[in-house]
Amino acid sequence: MKRYWILIFSIPFLLMAAVKNGNPKVASVVSSPGAITVVIDAGHGGTDRGTRSKQPFCEEKRLCLQTARLVRKYLDQLGYHVVMTRNNDAFVPLSRRVEIASQSSSSIFVSIHYNSARSPLVEGAEVFFYDSKENQKRTISSKKLAEAVLPSILRRTGFASRGVKKGNYYVLRESAMPAIIIEGGFISNPQECALLKSIDYQEKIAKGIADGIDRYFKGSKSSL
Ligand SMILES: [Zn+2]
Repeated sequence: MKRYWILIFSIPFLLMAAVKNGNPKVASVVSSPGAITVVIDAGHGGTDRGTRSKQPFCEEKRLCLQTARLVRKYLDQLGYHVVMTRNNDAFVPLSRRVEIASQSSSSIFVSIHYNSARSPLVEGAEVFFYDSKENQKRTISSKKLAEAVLPSILRRTGFASRGVKKGNYYVLRESAMPAIIIEGGFISNPQECALLKSIDYQEKIAKGIADGIDRYFKGSKSSL
């Protein structure tokens, strides 16, 4: 009997906790003080729209932000501290994005983009890292991160793999921490574009990215 009273007594507190966790502002505050900081970079923004398609209508900058917000939500739930380089439709210079990552003492930099090709048949997801000759440690970690995130995306979305690749992009080259660019699918492919726009796919890719990041950190911990 005593147990039932404890249960009934604790219901209001459980409800309060549930409401609290539903609020993203509170959720980021309650993440533990020792939480790992992760920078999520939604590509493009403002006047820089990225790649676009007319049929179905799709703008890269919007998709990137939508995915980035969902990734933040899932990483919050996993106990990470997430810093966004943009959280609205603003133009943020690449140098500022790198600066945000350095100032937040982030452990990794994850940039989210969508792709475009001349042929409407090109499809699939790919992840880039920078091969730094001066900082091989960062190169190895960036590659490890890419290799954790890509399979995780593919498992969730069922998309074709275009592999983990080396890329000489500003944010990858200039970041001080392990960094990757995710190209989550082709806006120039009408079938893939229709999928990319769906909330179902957005949730799948975001969960895939968050799981992959989590796997990267857990893998690094166990290899210590
Ligand atoms: Zn892009």
